[in-house]
Amino acid sequence: MLKGRVAIVTGSTSGIGLGIAKELASLRADIVLNGFGDAGEIEAIRGGIEREHGVRTIYDGADMSKEDAVRGLIAATVEKFGRLDILVNNAGIQFTAPVEEFPAARWNAILAINLSAAFHSIAAAVPQMKKQCWGRIVNIASAHGLVASTHKAAYVAAKHGLIGLTKVVGLETAGSGVTCNAICPGWVRTPLVDKQIDDIAAQRGISQTEAARTLLAEKQPSLEFVSPAQLGGTVAFLCSSAADQVTGTAISVDGGWTAQ
Ligand code: NAD
Repeated sequence: MLKGRVAIVTGSTSGIGLGIAKELASLRADIVLNGFGDAGEIEAIRGGIEREHGVRTIYDGADMSKEDAVRGLIAATVEKFGRLDILVNNAGIQFTAPVEEFPAARWNAILAINLSAAFHSIAAAVPQMKKQCWGRIVNIASAHGLVASTHKAAYVAAKHGLIGLTKVVGLETAGSGVTCNAICPGWVRTPLVDKQIDDIAAQRGISQTEAARTLLAEKQPSLEFVSPAQLGGTVAFLCSSAADQVTGTAISVDGGWTAQ
């Protein structure tokens, strides 16, 4: 379905981004991996995707907190492959504290990586996508892009902002063959959430299993985690012709979280 297409997935060395990259590779898109981690492990992931799916796969370690690096990632991809068809803005970080104790440095880092990086990458990618008369921009927001929780001032603000950015870009690219949408996952069991499960287990003196159940019970009616592969499938839908008229929207994949 995506043979000949080139996809960048930011933050794809782990968790949701890796699941999305694997799904797009399974549909034959060439992949640009990005994110932090152990060099040997990243090379094993890169080589594994290339071997399993027979697609060109490169790694670019651009730091999404830095404007020049984000814009450089887009430019380097177009230079290397001659095109850019799919941009998945997925890199993200979390930090929790009451607003009056929230460190300004954490606020700035979360806004830079979870929101401003998407602005810079989209601004750099749209001219190329318009030239091609086809492009898919997918921003990985969150249920926290639609509703709030305590102690997540920066994350909730960034994710709400990301959905606003998605709407504007959806309007500005309408009719050009380029679409821009957000996906709003509920809880997904990744390193980002494992840390929050660890915190609940430590605070309440309960096991990891009980802490995971507590986390789900507080927000997610299905009581089941969303999987990275399911989110990969949602991105694949947005890249299909069935989604040609889906733009500027936010798709919830959250086990019922935001239906409440
Ligand atoms: P994760 O921690 O497993 O992965 C985050 C990825 O981002 C990693 O590859 C990491 O190396 C990369 N990254 C972090 N800082 C970076 C930087 N400065 N530059 C480049 N890459 C950087 O987390 P995840 O749970 O897979 O989260 C991925 C996205 O999904 C995030 O935007 C997150 O907010 C969102 N999300 C996660 C959940 C969940 O329950 N896990 C729910 C809703 C939304």
